[in-house]
Amino acid sequence: MQKISIVWLKRDLRGADHPPIERAIAAGYPLILIYVFEPSLIAAPQSDLRHWRFVWESLSDLNEQIRSYSGVVEVLFGEVPVILERLCSVFDIQGMYSHQESGIDITFKRDLEVKQILSKKNIPWHEYPQQGVKRGRKNRSNWVQDWFSYVKGPIQPVKWGKATFQEFPKDFRIEHELPEFTSLWSAKNPVFQPGGSTSGNKYLKSFLLERHRTYSKHISKPELSRKSCSRLSPYLAWGCLSIRQVYQQSDQALKSGEASKSISNFMERLRWHCHFIQKFEMESSMEYNSINRGFEKFKTEPNQFLILAWQKGATGYPLVDACMRCLIETGYLNFRMRAMLVSFLTHHLRQNWQTGADHLARVFLDFEPGIHYPQLQMQAGVTGINTVRIYNPVKQSQDHDPEGVFIKKWLPELTSIPNSLIHEPWNLTEMEKSIYKIRLGETYPYPIVSPVTAASEARDIIWAAQEDPEVKKEARGILARHTLTKRWK
Ligand SMILES: Cc1cc2nc3c(=O)[nH]c(=O)nc-3n(C[C@H](O)[C@H](O)[C@H](O)COP(=O)(O)OP(=O)(O)OC[C@H]3O[C@@H](n4cnc5c(N)ncnc54)[C@H](O)[C@@H]3O)c2cc1C
Repeated sequence: MQKISIVWLKRDLRGADHPPIERAIAAGYPLILIYVFEPSLIAAPQSDLRHWRFVWESLSDLNEQIRSYSGVVEVLFGEVPVILERLCSVFDIQGMYSHQESGIDITFKRDLEVKQILSKKNIPWHEYPQQGVKRGRKNRSNWVQDWFSYVKGPIQPVKWGKATFQEFPKDFRIEHELPEFTSLWSAKNPVFQPGGSTSGNKYLKSFLLERHRTYSKHISKPELSRKSCSRLSPYLAWGCLSIRQVYQQSDQALKSGEASKSISNFMERLRWHCHFIQKFEMESSMEYNSINRGFEKFKTEPNQFLILAWQKGATGYPLVDACMRCLIETGYLNFRMRAMLVSFLTHHLRQNWQTGADHLARVFLDFEPGIHYPQLQMQAGVTGINTVRIYNPVKQSQDHDPEGVFIKKWLPELTSIPNSLIHEPWNLTEMEKSIYKIRLGETYPYPIVSPVTAASEARDIIWAAQEDPEVKKEARGILARHTLTKRWK
């Protein structure tokens, strides 16, 4: 049988700063690069067409880049263990190369199966860390130092010119062909950021050259942040760019002088990105349970009416609704507005964070489990170690969208209202409602919870929970595992 190496691409859809590809080429055997669209993952509650379109575009971009080396990523449809078994029957696999994945339960279990298959057949699986995240960590001792050594470390060139590519068996390709419905992925949607490292590099370049100038000033503004923030999150989440590439190029821009504060603020967030993924890597049960188990007893029965209104952007709170509708349409929202959406769901509406997790994962183009779950829990106030913030949606609106530009863009039914009144339509007088043709309850909903009492009641509940002895006991354990603060030392 033909000896080969396999590179299994996952959330690392790029052709540079890629140790698995680089080492597989160095091993010298003909190469098969595969990406597998897995039905189990496509059916996961976190998954959405926008993700798979982004992946599809990223793979097309990568194929374009390696075409001149006669390289191609074999794109297959099926479950990875089945495909792997089949490949083992056709080829003498000398090694499989991939990045480690800090993923959801489905990908974790699939990786265990893959590991079992490979070890039964004595095929080495060379897995490489990403993001400076270390598998098997018990605490954060030296994490920051390790992270800096990782991101500042040398980027080995991928020598595509030295690679030889194994021809893929035709019948196998036909067996695992993409089904009809996947043709939706190749239809471009210009409202979303396009996948691929070519686009990712354009965003990075324009941010470092120009857009960073207003980064810190606009970071919390729902409309202005769309241009002033880097917008690199989907490229990092799906691996079109590595964190090391982004860090090193930012560092160069920083050294060249201008607007250093903005770029260093941005670089700090690159570290947060990895910090959260490390947390999730160490405690992936966060996908389902509050990291602080003390909070489990405070869970409430889900109220489907409230959850649905929040999901649709029909809560009667203009900024909340505009944020949600914008996310549904474009897949992007800045950090503060994401935090406000979670705060509103979990505090004002008193729904468990779990009731919003899948919906947000589906609408975020940059869904990254390692950031998503820890951030959700932090904003919901169920860690017991972070300061709880209950965002006031009216104040956020007045502070960050004072002219109602963002609100009017996403809630056309409110465009007739003057800017100063748009933040609290429930306070319009009968005369104003008739002048501006607003029929609350018909053209736009009444607030689904009381603007007067919802936040204060939520505050009483969450602060009482923070004082619960079990919550406090759990918090000590979390500090020991996940932080390196002086408090813990
Ligand atoms: C409830 C909730 C869920 C989130 N889920 C995700 C997610 O699934 N995927 C995701 O990439 N980000 C997530 N974030 C973090 C953050 O909102 C986004 O990373 C950011 O808004 C992306 O925009 P940007 O690329 O323009 O960010 P920039 O401000 O330009 O930051 C650059 C990069 O730093 C990282 N980053 C920025 N802010 C944070 C942060 N607070 N925590 C961790 N990393 C950060 C991201 O990789 C980002 O691309 C979530 C935040 C909240 C509150």
